[in-house]
Amino acid sequence: MTKYMLRHDRPNCIGCAACVAIAPDYWEMASDDKSSIKGGKRMPDGTEERVIEEKDFAANKDAAQSCPVNVISVWDENKTKKIV
Ligand code: SF4
Repeated sequence: MTKYMLRHDRPNCIGCAACVAIAPDYWEMASDDKSSIKGGKRMPDGTEERVIEEKDFAANKDAAQSCPVNVISVWDENKTKKIV
């Protein structure tokens, strides 16, 4: 089964909540008024990552395309190629 890596450049998130409106199964607002990936892993640099499956791809592609500051991306699972 194809898997992807959903990535969030969280330090540069402006907290507009578009991703949460579009993909609430995957995104939520946090107490610091930025969004977070539900079930995501917070990295030392403040970014977030979560492995997602094919069934999760379309919603997160839409979320990425809705983000006004382009801080959401979807990569192949090994993070070698950016897909969205
Ligand atoms: S759409 Fe982008 S800027 Fe807006 S809350 Fe989501 S990640 Fe942050």
